[in-house]
Amino acid sequence: MAEKVREGFYLSKRWKETRLKVLRRDRYICQQCGAKCLGKSKGLPAPQVDHELELKTHPHLAYEMSNLRVLCKPCHSKRTILDTIGRAKPEIGIDGFPVEELQHIPS
Ligand SMILES: [Zn+2]
Repeated sequence: MAEKVREGFYLSKRWKETRLKVLRRDRYICQQCGAKCLGKSKGLPAPQVDHELELKTHPHLAYEMSNLRVLCKPCHSKRTILDTIGRAKPEIGIDGFPVEELQHIPS
């Protein structure tokens, strides 16, 4: 799915409704670490609804409740970073080990 299309997706009414359903089903609890996600105004991480199978590769599962789950922002960012690294071929340094990429990713 192209970047523009995905932007539109996240703004769509249908997604907003689906997202709310997922938040209610999971009770605003991060399915990874169990943190309660009620947003910054409560001094808690913001909830994010994650597509377990990525939207990019599985657009037909965009609104599939079983493919959606609540993650807190830290867990979601971690997951996104891991996905990105997983896709990219690791660069091998002269010592034969992959070059550390994490340090370049802003937290
Ligand atoms: Zn979490």
